[in-house]
Amino acid sequence: MLPEVVFVLGAPGAGKGTQCSHISKEYDFVHLSAGDLLREERQRPGSEYGEMIEEKIRNGEIVPVEVTCSLIHKAMQKSGKSRFLIDGFPRNKDNLDGWDRVMSDKTKLLFVLFFECSRDICTERCLGRGAAGSGRSDDNLESLQKRFNTYINDTMPIINHYDRLGLVKRINAESVPEEVFQDVKKVFDGAGLQRIAN
Ligand code: UDP
Ligand code: MG
Repeated sequence: MLPEVVFVLGAPGAGKGTQCSHISKEYDFVHLSAGDLLREERQRPGSEYGEMIEEKIRNGEIVPVEVTCSLIHKAMQKSGKSRFLIDGFPRNKDNLDGWDRVMSDKTKLLFVLFFECSRDICTERCLGRGAAGSGRSDDNLESLQKRFNTYINDTMPIINHYDRLGLVKRINAESVPEEVFQDVKKVFDGAGLQRIAN
């Protein structure tokens, strides 16, 4: 059976990472954050991509898909598992095309989980996260403005593309994590995905 994938998208600060960590505790999914994989690669001694990744992240731009897709693919293989939440990817047409080229016949896309949240709330959350010591070089107002532009110009068209294919599951992500997760569970249960027995 092909490995199964759920893409998780939404504005910066919409809560993708928080919800993915809840999901991976209740359902048999491995959480792979594209942003985290890139930040890890940036820190890896000897990485030839470290500087390029840092620059892209700080400017809210998207890293070339060859880099991101290969990090995701390697993490999938290393996990030895067969169900994945791919958090924060694909974010633009380059990502989408690169994934389709290399991964679409190696995986089955179940659906796209889309967290909807207003720009004001998202900005407040990211600034709060920065103030609380996220240590992220992009949780500041200047980077956030760029990240939002990229989101609106480059990522929304990808979400619309999957919406036309009937693959998007929308979640209102403006309330507290526990409440948002109730709606997320409805989507996963509705898709017939089994909870982990515990
Ligand atoms: N990024 C990227 N490609 C990806 C995912 C992330 O280039 O597939 C970069 C991009 O610069 C983005 C940053 O990593 O702005 C942070 O992404 P992350 O998903 O961690 O941020 P979030 O949206 O969760 O706040
Ligand atoms: Mg994240």
